[in-house]
Amino acid sequence: MPYCSRCGNHLDEKAVICVRCGEPCKKKTPGTVGTSGGTGLLIASILIPLIGVIIGFVQLDNNKPELGKKCFIGAAIGAVITVVIAVVFPMVFILLLGLSV
Ligand SMILES: [Zn+2]
Repeated sequence: MPYCSRCGNHLDEKAVICVRCGEPCKKKTPGTVGTSGGTGLLIASILIPLIGVIIGFVQLDNNKPELGKKCFIGAAIGAVITVVIAVVFPMVFILLLGLSV
């Protein structure tokens, strides 16, 4: 039976947060750790992949591998989107030029 790390309350096996004090149950839910700030970091990483990689390394340095991983995933998604835009836009441009000639 897990206990709350802050108030010592008995916690349900599947509890995400302590029902008494609202403390997140970090050990039982590794996938949801850092969701408070993780989503913003993920979006920032997607928008600016380079920043995502830098923040990712910072989070790994701060012993927050889950948050760091999220940044790397966001950076990867952002990089793919950037490449797609960088490739697709010129292609469309060339196609339009080719059609108009
Ligand atoms: Zn508690």
